[in-house]
Amino acid sequence: MRPTFILDNNVKHLKTLLPRGQAKTTVECGLRPEADDIAVIGLAYERKAILVTSDVGIVKKSKRFQSQRSVCLFGLLILPDGLEQQLRLLNDIRSRRKVFRHQQFERTVTWNNIREENLFVNARMAGQPGLQDLCDCDWED
Ligand SMILES: [Zn+2]
Repeated sequence: MRPTFILDNNVKHLKTLLPRGQAKTTVECGLRPEADDIAVIGLAYERKAILVTSDVGIVKKSKRFQSQRSVCLFGLLILPDGLEQQLRLLNDIRSRRKVFRHQQFERTVTWNNIREENLFVNARMAGQPGLQDLCDCDWED
């Protein structure tokens, strides 16, 4: 089965907090632990998976990856630093204390929406997660 989430090495311990059986770490997918960001982004693209990371620098690199190759990724979830904060956030998302909203959606945004519409989720501790489009593509219909 194809995973829905790829966990960057810095958040690999969060696997069990994502929907069961749908998350894989970069290392489980064959990358080295110290693989560079472009390899990690490329893996998420190949697997059509939401990339989960605590590395904010990935946002800019993901946008560059898309424009250089004229492709769209499959969503990005940025978590804050710190295991305790990450656990709390994912629990809040699971229990729907934190929900995903985006102006283009009438209803609450789902993980599938994030993947299919290539949304970028900035999950911060204070307030609700911020959702934006990850691509501003002119190669897509
Ligand atoms: Zn796009």
